[in-house]
Amino acid sequence: MKNQYQSYQESLDFLYTMQKKHPHLIEVIKIGTTYEERDIVLVKISQGVHEADQKPAMLFTGTVHAREWIGNELALKFIEYVANNQFVDPSLEKSLKESTLYMVPCLNPDGFEYSRKHFSFWRKNRRDNGDGTVGVDLNRNFSIGWSKNSNTSSNIYGGEAPFSEAESRAIKDFVDTHNNITIAFDYHSQGNVFFPAHKFNHEAELNGTDMNALCANMNDEIFKITGRKYGIHRGKPPAQLISGSGREYYYSKGIISTVVEVGTKNIPDYMKSMSSSINENIPALKYAFTEVVNYSKKAPPRVNSFSISNVQATSLTLVWEYEERDIICFEIFRSLEDKDACNNRTLIATVGGNSFEDTDLNSSTNYNYTIRAVNKKSGYKSPFAPIVKVRTALEDDEFFKLIFANKSGTGYVGQYTAEQNRSHFGLNSLFVGVNKTKGICNGVVSFDFDSLPSDAIIKEARVYLYPMNRVGAKIEKFGEWNLSLMKSGSFSEVTDFNAIETAKTKGTIGQAIKSHNLTQGIWNFWEFSSHECALLQEEIAMGKAHFRIDGPKELPDGEDSQMMQFDIGYGQFGGGIHYRPILDVKYTVTEHKIKLPASTQTTIAKEKVEENILKSGFDKEGNRIYGYLDFDLSELPSSDETVITKCALKITNSNIFKKKRDVRYYIELVELDDVGSYEDIKNRDKIEYIGYEVSEGDLNTKEYQYFNFDTLSKLTLDTMHQEGKKLKLVIRAVSSKGVKSRVVSWKSDVELVVKYIKKRRTPPNKAEKFYITKENGMIKLNWDRVKEESVTGYYVVRNSFHPPQHFTDGVKIYGGSDTYTYDNFASYEKEKYYTVFTYDEVPNFSEGATVHYNPLEKY
Ligand SMILES: [Zn+2]
Repeated sequence: MKNQYQSYQESLDFLYTMQKKHPHLIEVIKIGTTYEERDIVLVKISQGVHEADQKPAMLFTGTVHAREWIGNELALKFIEYVANNQFVDPSLEKSLKESTLYMVPCLNPDGFEYSRKHFSFWRKNRRDNGDGTVGVDLNRNFSIGWSKNSNTSSNIYGGEAPFSEAESRAIKDFVDTHNNITIAFDYHSQGNVFFPAHKFNHEAELNGTDMNALCANMNDEIFKITGRKYGIHRGKPPAQLISGSGREYYYSKGIISTVVEVGTKNIPDYMKSMSSSINENIPALKYAFTEVVNYSKKAPPRVNSFSISNVQATSLTLVWEYEERDIICFEIFRSLEDKDACNNRTLIATVGGNSFEDTDLNSSTNYNYTIRAVNKKSGYKSPFAPIVKVRTALEDDEFFKLIFANKSGTGYVGQYTAEQNRSHFGLNSLFVGVNKTKGICNGVVSFDFDSLPSDAIIKEARVYLYPMNRVGAKIEKFGEWNLSLMKSGSFSEVTDFNAIETAKTKGTIGQAIKSHNLTQGIWNFWEFSSHECALLQEEIAMGKAHFRIDGPKELPDGEDSQMMQFDIGYGQFGGGIHYRPILDVKYTVTEHKIKLPASTQTTIAKEKVEENILKSGFDKEGNRIYGYLDFDLSELPSSDETVITKCALKITNSNIFKKKRDVRYYIELVELDDVGSYEDIKNRDKIEYIGYEVSEGDLNTKEYQYFNFDTLSKLTLDTMHQEGKKLKLVIRAVSSKGVKSRVVSWKSDVELVVKYIKKRRTPPNKAEKFYITKENGMIKLNWDRVKEESVTGYYVVRNSFHPPQHFTDGVKIYGGSDTYTYDNFASYEKEKYYTVFTYDEVPNFSEGATVHYNPLEKY
């Protein structure tokens, strides 16, 4: 096949030639005739193609829109690839044995030929509308959500009725009579983005994770070839939902269905761009083909009630339910990224049972988990459980804040949009890049630091932005998008283009995002290095930080736009609070230090107990002499508000030995009720050693000995502090050689050096009386104020599948100090759960209070 665009006739000739060459593999059938009497053909591909319809199948449709030639070209090249590699690649061979491909390279032959020969920008078919206009948009002519549009000259005219067109009817009839189809792709151009199907509401679907994972896994294949990352976009409110599309029709039949928008132009330079789009999509399709069987009746069922419990700073437990057991194992996937792949790259464990503990995690970090069941005999896998999002707990000395961009300081400034720039703030989305009408556009995102304490020490930070869905986004492989921290005071007005363009910056933050990795529908973030955290730290005193996002400042050759649009969550185009830019900061605060003197110092030998003196070693008979000391922890600040971060015992010997012997000294943390006698101390319960032992050499050379508490000792100290107990230590000498008459005297200025920070330990109580009402067509959530001083706010989360177990386990609906909120985007028709968590300034989150929304109930 030539390395250039094929005509429709050349395409047909190729397909029939392939059928002739590979009669066991390929069968071309006619599924309809167009207005201009061209054949609409579908190619069946399977090992033993006469049995193709008995196997689970993947449907491919291309060039539904006349000018979007990628579909036809990709189909032909993929068919050629499959034929050439059917006995070469074992994975492909297996797929062809167990599954079938149904390929319609071109669903709109009339339009395609018209676009090729007369008017390349043609989109519709070639039906005569009878009023002097021509064409129906086939992708608006399907029944789901079809809407009557009397403007026949419109490019998205949906026809007189659903399925009024031969082309849409042909594919409908085929799909209606082939319930073996489990996955469908409709290839379009342009945008380099996947658009998985959605129901006509804004709520999560049970198979949403399946579609996202399928696209993300295809994305990994694409990335291997060209380094490109496609966007994955579905179900984000309040984007306009398209009506009468093929994708939604297939989805309504229970098919996992996705539109793939390829490339940056409808008809690009073949050798430069089209071939690269094809090359990257062939392995992606090949991968998707392996998943076909996993959505068929042969596959094991989906895992139920996948959820989290016991979330710690560095570990958590995943739990789920599943019935059949013997031949089933479970694959668990974890990622730090939104909508990431679920493949070997993210597979963290294959397990039996109904729970899994994930360890060695980073504290206060967002993780995404999903799971699928695998039949160990057949290798077939279940669909994925809906993704579970969780943020690990804070370490003892940590705090975090999710700071949302403030409304008045967040917007974009365009080079040519002058006075209008002011009105972009708090209202529009962020346009960043350059185009012919607006010129260079910079985004400005501002964060207030009211909620950060003045002594905060920033440990980690990230700025998150959500690139919006734009089918029309034309991001060429050109330029990069940078986040920089602007120097406060170096610009007059955030709404002034020149001021922002020339503002002094403290530097760019994290890694620039290259054009081909800037993905629509997937959260992008810039991560601060520790140096950049220090720069941000300096802004805390100023009370706020302003960031500039800039993109390319010149246009690629022959282009009129190189612009990305980010959601700001505000205004009529915003997706609500869930989509606001976020500064995610993990921090600690300044440590305080306190030195506690020993309240008891006692020497306990076999012969006698001496008070107010501290010695240890061996007596004349070689019996051990113990030094005992304890500390009164009540001198520390209240345990509710204090976390001990470090602790050490500082002690000095008053005598030295001229001739060193093999004696070493240990400090033990002990549990002892009484220290009245030698027997008491011999029968002590040892909890842990403190620090390292010291030798006589150390005693001679070091000014003082410093015994550092390890984690367990520190935790024990912490517990004793909370329980109001004394800290008890014993100094014990050891020798391997039976030493006698060897005694060290310790100076009485021994002290316990404790470092601590002020931090609340316990979460506030949960909200009472959490209930649903309906108001103005919206679901309203109400709860009683928690009357505790420590409460800073309430966090409300929605989950369509299970009660949210954690404040990240679902869609965020609200965070703030009110005692009610509306769920603007929720449907009355769909069951769901809401949970409210109370939090303090750390934040510690309370247990959740949950309500179940039942569509059949009255509210
Ligand atoms: Zn299209």
